[in-house]
Amino acid sequence: LFARPFLFIKGCVRLADLPPMDRVEIAFAGRSNVGKSSLINALCGTSGLARTSNTPGRTQELNIFESQSENLRIVDMPGYGYAKAPEPKVKAWTALIHQYLTGRATLRRVYVLVDSRHGPKDNDLSVMNELDRAAVSYQVVLTKIDKPSARELETNIARTVASIAKRPAAHPDVILTSSEKGEGLTQLRTEIALLLES
Ligand code: GDP
Repeated sequence: LFARPFLFIKGCVRLADLPPMDRVEIAFAGRSNVGKSSLINALCGTSGLARTSNTPGRTQELNIFESQSENLRIVDMPGYGYAKAPEPKVKAWTALIHQYLTGRATLRRVYVLVDSRHGPKDNDLSVMNELDRAAVSYQVVLTKIDKPSARELETNIARTVASIAKRPAAHPDVILTSSEKGEGLTQLRTEIALLLES
């Protein structure tokens, strides 16, 4: 599945830019700087495919990547929670994301990335609320697990598990990852491969 590099197809700023619904789609969402680009790059075995950057809030589009060997499309959603973004822009992204999440029949699962140093924040919970309302299946992925202390990590795993316990569209398992150390990538790939079979 991830044997051959994914191709970047395009960036979409409006719904009409999206490709036709002819592939299984999974999407990645998370706060700016959560490590989303790094994870997508690590997962797809390519560097620089999704742009990593220390400037939060730069990715303002739905970026589309496609597998060269499978019927799979990855949608990299704009990072949220960037305080300095101008209001109209935030509104436009929010509308685009809402339309995408509620109107995409081929969207099989959203991976909601949460920083393992912080655990879920209010805007992560808002995204989960929206996914629950839209009945879009999602799974939480903790990122950068090489960063917190073992104790901090345990606490934040417990908080994360508690935060999804009663959520109807949430997958009960939380995936622990570090793009830096390559941890959790095999599990994530396996889960995605299972989605393709189901
Ligand atoms: P994005 O804004 O969510 O796309 O985040 P990026 O992928 O650009 O990562 C933000 C920052 O976190 C960068 O400085 C990355 O090098 C760093 N980072 C990303 N993943 C990891 C990780 O697994 N471990 C560590 N230690 N740093 C990471």
